[in-house]
Amino acid sequence: MTENGVPESSPHYFRDLSDIPVELETPTGTAGDTRNRPLRDLRISVTDRCNFRCVYCMPKQIFGRDFEFMERDELLTFEEITRLAGIAVAHGVEKIRLTGGEPLLRKGLEELVGMLSALKTPDGRDIDIALTTNGSALDVKAQVLKDAGLKRVTVSLDSLDDATFKALNDVDFPVAKVLHGIEVAHEVGLGPIKINMVVKRGQNDQDVVPMARHFKGSPYILRFIEFMDVGTSNGWKMEEVVPSAEVISAINAELPLEEVVANYPGETSARWSYRDGGGEIGVISSVTQSFCQSCTRVRVSTEGKLFTCLFATGGHDLRALMRGGCSDEQLSTVMAHIWRERTDRYSDLRSAATNDLRGTGKKKIEMSYIGG
Ligand code: SF4
Repeated sequence: MTENGVPESSPHYFRDLSDIPVELETPTGTAGDTRNRPLRDLRISVTDRCNFRCVYCMPKQIFGRDFEFMERDELLTFEEITRLAGIAVAHGVEKIRLTGGEPLLRKGLEELVGMLSALKTPDGRDIDIALTTNGSALDVKAQVLKDAGLKRVTVSLDSLDDATFKALNDVDFPVAKVLHGIEVAHEVGLGPIKINMVVKRGQNDQDVVPMARHFKGSPYILRFIEFMDVGTSNGWKMEEVVPSAEVISAINAELPLEEVVANYPGETSARWSYRDGGGEIGVISSVTQSFCQSCTRVRVSTEGKLFTCLFATGGHDLRALMRGGCSDEQLSTVMAHIWRERTDRYSDLRSAATNDLRGTGKKKIEMSYIGG
């Protein structure tokens, strides 16, 4: 965040309606950034609140009892979210992922899913609506979300060992309840279900192979995520990162694996399958094998700021423009400009300097605020 919070990757900053170019742009569905990356994925954070306090995302010492979360009227309404999403779809977005905080804490979320499910790509295809959750309320919400049009869920689960899991989520939440939520989601057809495990050395790396053993042969795709220096509150250290290569070699030693080609360009997870046909796993290696060259993701925060990178230090306040009375054509023009001028490739450039922003006046946004 520079002095006035101007995002670095975009020279244009749209403070109010007067900043919007007079010449308006019609969306083409093929928006490309400065590295020719198309805009394909929109991640929307629907709440900054969570009922977990995962140590690598929302540590209790910072997000304690006195932490001030946003008031309801600060959040984008479902109508505002759907309006923004509709414009992003016109620019090429084909997949919308709902995140948080914990998205299932947002009341009436199924109503939003229903509104988003009505959106179509310029050539009339459905939008792939997915959700990332900690699974704490999935057993209760899965059916209504499915009925509203949700296609898939990704569930975070960092260990099968209750003590380790509780130490990581730091709210004493049991593994069994998350596993039950996953089963219910599977039964109602919210698949293929992906299970995300953030691996942190010295905390749960001993559980990598037990997790693989447990989910092998199941309909679920287990993915191992390298511990990332997102935000400024998780105390990230390189020595606590378990490189994906190490994860793969540990599993392969007992459960032989082979590499599989990506499902589509820009897929964040590198795919591996068990040689004996026991299903597949994935690794997301933002630290040791960055994938910025194919990053097609844009993020909108709970109160309507648009971010062009997970490690951004500033965003564009689209809520101010919407509540300031801008037209859809104006909003579309702003989005086209932001994406076209995008240069982000933080993970490619990651170094001790990029992580340590002390004294620069900049602050990376928090994962709990923008979703993964
Ligand atoms: S670091 Fe930023 S640009 Fe690179 S893959 Fe992640 S979100 Fe995309």
